[in-house]
Amino acid sequence: MRNILVIGGSRGIGACIAKDLAKKGNNVVLNYNKSEKEAKNIQEELSKLGFSIEIFKADVSKREEVKKLKDFFFSKFENIDVLINNAGISQIKLFTDISDEDWNDMLNINLNSYFYTTQEFIKNMINNKKGCIINISSIWGEIGGSCEVHYSTAKAGVIGMTRALAKELGLSNVRVNAISPGIINTQMNEQIGNNDIENIKNEIPLARIGEPIDIARCVCWLIEDEYTTGQVIRIDGGWNI
Ligand code: NAP
Repeated sequence: MRNILVIGGSRGIGACIAKDLAKKGNNVVLNYNKSEKEAKNIQEELSKLGFSIEIFKADVSKREEVKKLKDFFFSKFENIDVLINNAGISQIKLFTDISDEDWNDMLNINLNSYFYTTQEFIKNMINNKKGCIINISSIWGEIGGSCEVHYSTAKAGVIGMTRALAKELGLSNVRVNAISPGIINTQMNEQIGNNDIENIKNEIPLARIGEPIDIARCVCWLIEDEYTTGQVIRIDGGWNI
C-alpha cells in the first residue's frame, strides 16, 4: 500500500488513475480545482465499493494553494510515495491569436503547477530516499501540435523537467518519468468532431483512440517498476511511430 497524490484527479485521465489506484488498496489523495461535484461523486462511488479516497480542492497553478494541499496530505499521511502530475487545460488557436493571457494561463496550469507540486512534495521523498514522480505530458510536447503552440510548449517543458530532474534525483532513489498520451477519450477532446475522430482512428495502427485506463495501466507499471527513470513513455496506439 502506497501513499499517492493525484493532481487534477476529478475528471478524465486523472479520475481514472485515482480510482484505479484506490481500488488497488492504496492511500490516495485526489486533488481537484473546479469539479467539486465530480470529485465528491468519485469518493461516493468508491465508498459504495468499500474503498476510500481523500479529496482536496486546490488550484495548483498557485504556489500558496499547493502549500495548503501539502499540509492536507501530510495531515493524513506521514510520507508520500507517488506524485502524479496530471492537471491540464488545452486550447486550439492560431499562434497569431494567442494572447498573453492565453499563453500565461497555459504555462501556469500545464507547466508551472508541475514545478510547484514537485518542489513542495519532493523534500519528503528525498528524506525517505524513495519516491516516484509521474508527469503527464503529451505527444504534442514531443512532436508539436499545429494551433496548439502554447500547449505544446508547456508539454515540452514537462519533458525537459522530467529528464533533468531524473538525473538530479537518481542518487536519492527518486524516479521521475513522463507519459506522453496520443488522443484519449476525455472531455479535453470534446471539441473534436466525430468525422475528425474517425479520420484520426484511420491513422492509428491500433485503430482506436485511447481510453483513460490505457494511461492508468502505464501509471501502475511505472509505480511498481524500480529501474526506469527519465523516460517519456508514448501511449498513442502507434499513431506517431
Ligand atoms: P480533462 O478531462 O479536461 O481533465 C483535466 C483535469 O485537470 C481535471 O481533473 C481538472 O480539474 C484538472 N485541472 C485543470 N486545471 C487545474 C488546476 N488549476 N488545478 C487543479 N486541477 C486542475 O483532461 P484529460 O484529458 O483527463 O487530461 C489530463 C492530462 O492529460 C492533462 O495534463 C492533458 O494535457 C494530458 N493529455 C490529455 C490528452 C487527451 O487526449 N485527453 C492527450 C495528451 C495529454 P477540475 O475540473 O476540478 O478543475
